[in-house]
Amino acid sequence: MGQAPVPALFTPVPAPLSPRSPTLASCVVMTQAQRKHLESRLLQERDRINQLLSRYAAQNENEDDQDQAGDLTKMPLHMADQGTDTMQQELDAVMVDRESKTLAEIDAALERMYNHPEQFGICENSGKEIPFARLDIVPWARTC
Ligand SMILES: [Zn+2]
Repeated sequence: MGQAPVPALFTPVPAPLSPRSPTLASCVVMTQAQRKHLESRLLQERDRINQLLSRYAAQNENEDDQDQAGDLTKMPLHMADQGTDTMQQELDAVMVDRESKTLAEIDAALERMYNHPEQFGICENSGKEIPFARLDIVPWARTC
């Protein structure tokens, strides 16, 4: 048995998409490996939110079916249940709204990464590079 292969993530690879001279860029230029890491973080989060939203949509479909099957005339007797349902629906709506916005940010970040790589990881306000530590937490961040 030979040695385990060196993980590719830690192999320094020159970034062909970053033509700027290192003397002009700030001290830390994102490596190709870091970029790959952020790409997989974005795709992971994208999957997670897509699954969450489709679960939510499927759940709502079932509830609609139940409502249609139920007797509408008995609804006033279930005001308490209805209130709880409404609160839950409002919570869900807030969650769906927030996750949908994040999903749009993720798609925008992937679009930058693939089509405008020179813009990815650059602060929209200051034009400076967003610290990798911040991008690792929020890979779709637009500002530093
Ligand atoms: Zn900034």
